Amino acid sequence: MTLYSMKMRASRNENGKPVHVSGAEKILAQKEIHDNASALIERALCHSKGSADFINLKIEEIRPGELSYVEALPFTTRDVKTAEEGRAVILELLDKLGIKNGREILSRFSETYDMRGAMLLNADTLERMEPDTERGIRATYMDAEHSPERSVCNDKNHFQEAIVLASKVISAPHIIAEICMSDDPDYVTGYVAAEAIGYVRITKLKEKGCPDGGRIFLFRGSSEDAKETIKYLEKQKVLVKNAPLSPCSPKVSDPWEAIRKDISQRKAANLYRTTRVIDTAQTAHVRSEGKQLLLLASNSYLGLSDEPRVKEAAIEAVREYGVGSGGSRLTTGTLPLHEKLERDLAAFKGTEAAILFNTGYMANVGILSALGKSGAVIFSDELNHASIIDGCRLGHARTVVYKHNDMKDLEEKLKAVSAPFGVIVSDAVFSMDGDVANLPEIISLSKKYNLLSMVDEAHATGVIGKTGHGIVEYYGSNAHPDILMGTMSKSLASEGGFVCGDNLLIEYLRNTARSFIFSTSLGPAALVAADEALHIIEDEPERVAQLQRNTKVFIKALAENGITTESSSAIVPIIIGDEGAALKAAQALYDDGIFLTAIRYPTVAKGTARLRAAIMATHTEAELTAAAQKIAKAVKQ
Ligand SMILES: *Cc1c(COP(=O)(O)O)cnc(C)c1O
Repeated sequence: MTLYSMKMRASRNENGKPVHVSGAEKILAQKEIHDNASALIERALCHSKGSADFINLKIEEIRPGELSYVEALPFTTRDVKTAEEGRAVILELLDKLGIKNGREILSRFSETYDMRGAMLLNADTLERMEPDTERGIRATYMDAEHSPERSVCNDKNHFQEAIVLASKVISAPHIIAEICMSDDPDYVTGYVAAEAIGYVRITKLKEKGCPDGGRIFLFRGSSEDAKETIKYLEKQKVLVKNAPLSPCSPKVSDPWEAIRKDISQRKAANLYRTTRVIDTAQTAHVRSEGKQLLLLASNSYLGLSDEPRVKEAAIEAVREYGVGSGGSRLTTGTLPLHEKLERDLAAFKGTEAAILFNTGYMANVGILSALGKSGAVIFSDELNHASIIDGCRLGHARTVVYKHNDMKDLEEKLKAVSAPFGVIVSDAVFSMDGDVANLPEIISLSKKYNLLSMVDEAHATGVIGKTGHGIVEYYGSNAHPDILMGTMSKSLASEGGFVCGDNLLIEYLRNTARSFIFSTSLGPAALVAADEALHIIEDEPERVAQLQRNTKVFIKALAENGITTESSSAIVPIIIGDEGAALKAAQALYDDGIFLTAIRYPTVAKGTARLRAAIMATHTEAELTAAAQKIAKAVKQ
């Protein structure tokens, strides 16, 4: 395969003098040239040091026999606290290499500060061997050996580039070592490299902000030898084998070490998570670890997961259709039950069509990755659910996060970012605060800027709106967002996610949403349970009314006990702040017969830990009033 050398140097004129902006060296296959050239030019034009006004891009074919291969130097890191210590490490290493005049060598760095190239220094006589001492020696024509599939990344991999350079330098004839101190004011690291010690990274050699740095190639030989060295450094094309990508990749003796450390850090920060078993159905009263508890943390808002009609329907479905669905929806996994539930959900939400997913999480990930094509922009509320965030991450769209429910901020961002295609997405009811998104404004902004609007109704369905139909009913208007997403795992007492919208949207998702296509579909019991719950909500609106009344009673009781909070849904946040204090309060309540979970980072921002009470239609008003008193007591402890 023919390879090419690509070199880029970019500079900008400052007060009549060219100032270096960016440079790069690559050895590439033909098919990599186009993308890499674009990336390098873009980097030069959009550099933090300023936009280049001169870019020199040189691409040369490498003729057979012109290329040599060297193995990457093995590397180690020496962690030091001060620049002093770092310099002492250099002296120690040089000494180990039999180079005795380390101090004199180090003092020569004062001459390298303005040089773009390296100093070629005779380690014994301290004579400079470069023909042009202002410019120094450039080690060029090198790259890490890689497959043509190496990703083209706009960011430099400083670590790998340093190892590649050092590996080529150390393979040059008559070079005995290299010392490098970063000349970037943002980097304080450096290294010593030599055949016998490998590449030793030293974490601190200078103070941050200091632009001094440079390279010294230590040489041993005659001036004839120096010519050979320089020719190799400046002309020989070298590919470095097995160059690591980051300082933490090799040399890990125990691959579990980092994982153990992560866990212990979580424990220390009160962010460690455990599960707690509930031994009964998900009802207002549960048994856990032998204790009877009032459940104030369930998303089964209407108490339907233990409702006899829902259970009976599921059991019947299992009798008729069995348990698993046996395939994905597009293969063997579509039952009449799937299509019926989709029709019923669409009717419930007042849209043309609906599509089921296996969970709400998978619905969000599926929708947003399918719509998030490259070039698209997703405008996302900062408090959106993690599944929305993950959906944004999984697609190729750019994500622009706007301040929580702040329509002014949203519009500013819509104005600032031109989006040929995009989506505004928000939780309908915010899952950790219980407030409701400003849907009318989201819809009107999406129309104004020709974008799609999407809401996540996980905590809205069966909860808000006079009869529990969700956010559209809550605002009492006919204006629908383009995409209504929800879950069957909360009020609908079962499991699974869904999306309601126009036929076109549903057709598109059926063809492109990977979490729909590549996963086995929901089984009969889950489908029928959700469908039955949906009908109960339609037929018995008093359940929703009771839930809404209960929430008001609870908030009022909290206020009477000195805790001010509000909610437009069935989620009532009791903000505590400190993670440890929230855990303590939750445990005290557990001991006092109330099951309420402490919600901590990363579910909510650090320092905003809270007890998140979730009200059910099946709580009695007396229970909620008593619970409010216990909560106030636990929080004040
Ligand atoms: C619970 C939840 C989801 C995920 O739904 P599951 O069906 O539990 O996966 C998505 N969005 C929000 C806002 C949620 O609260």
